[in-house]
Amino acid sequence: MRIDLHCHSTASDGTDTPAELVRNAAAAGLDVVALTDHDTTRGHAEAIAALPAGLTLVTGAELSCRIDGVSMHLLAYLFDPEEPALLAERELVRDDRVPRAQGMVAKLNALGVPVTWEQVERIAAGGSVGRPHVATALVELGVVPTVGDAFTKEWLADGGRAHVKKHETDPFEAIRLIKGAGGVAVFAHPAAAKRGRTVPEPAIAAMAAAGLDGIEVDHMDHDADARTRLRGLAKELDLLVTGSSDYHGSRKTVSLGAYTTDPEVYGEITRRATGAFPVPGAGGV
Ligand SMILES: [Zn+2]
Ligand SMILES: [Zn+2]
Repeated sequence: MRIDLHCHSTASDGTDTPAELVRNAAAAGLDVVALTDHDTTRGHAEAIAALPAGLTLVTGAELSCRIDGVSMHLLAYLFDPEEPALLAERELVRDDRVPRAQGMVAKLNALGVPVTWEQVERIAAGGSVGRPHVATALVELGVVPTVGDAFTKEWLADGGRAHVKKHETDPFEAIRLIKGAGGVAVFAHPAAAKRGRTVPEPAIAAMAAAGLDGIEVDHMDHDADARTRLRGLAKELDLLVTGSSDYHGSRKTVSLGAYTTDPEVYGEITRRATGAFPVPGAGGV
C-alpha cells in the first residue's frame, strides 16, 4: 500500500487542479493521497468528485504557524471542515495572503523589479496567492533562473529584502483547534533548514505534550542525518512518523509518491481522527 500524505493543488500553490492531482496520484500507483493545501480546504470537493476507483483521499490542510519568530507548518488531517473555530483561523490566515503578496510586489518595485500585481494574480490563476507565485513572476521577468533561487535573503526568503511577514498561528493554539475539530496534527518538514531557522527540539517536545500526533520525517528537505535524528526524537516523544512528497506539480521537481507513509501509521491516523473519514474513490470523471 503506497500512501502519500502531503500534496498541494491549484487551491493553493500547486500546479495540478484538485481533479488532476487525484488522477495523477492514481497514475503514480498511489493507494492513498492527502490533499493538504495551505490554509484552505477549497480543493476537497473537486478532488472527491474526480476521485478514481482504487484511490482513497485523506482530506487535510497545511496550516501556517509561527513559534518564537520561527515559521513552521502543521499538517491537519481529517478534521471537520465546518468546525467554526478552526475555520475562522484558516480564514484569518488566508485573508492575509493577498495584502501580503501585494506588500512583496511593492517591495520588489522599490528594488527596481517591474513585477505587477496583475502578473502575480494571473500566475496564481484563482488559487490562494502565495510566495511561490511571486517567485514565479521573478522567473518570468528573468530576475532569477528558478523559483528556488527567489527564496534567498536577496529576495523572498524569511527576512529577505522583499519578504513580508504573514499572519501565522501559534502552533499550540493550532494543535488545540485541530484536535477540537476532530483532526490529527503532524508537524510538516520540521528539519527543513533551507527554509530558514528550524524549531528547536524542546519546543517539539512541548507540542507533543500539547497533543501533537506526529512529525513528518521522510521529506525531500531532510537529509539522511536529519531523518535519523527525527526518528529518534519521534520514538522518544511517542510521535507518529510520516513521509510524503509535498508535491506541488511542476512548481517543484519532486514526484507524487517520492516519499511515503507506513500503512500502520496511516491506520493510526484514521483511528485517531473523528472530524472526517477518508474518502474511497468511486471512479470519478
Ligand atoms: Zn510546508
Ligand atoms: Zn506543503
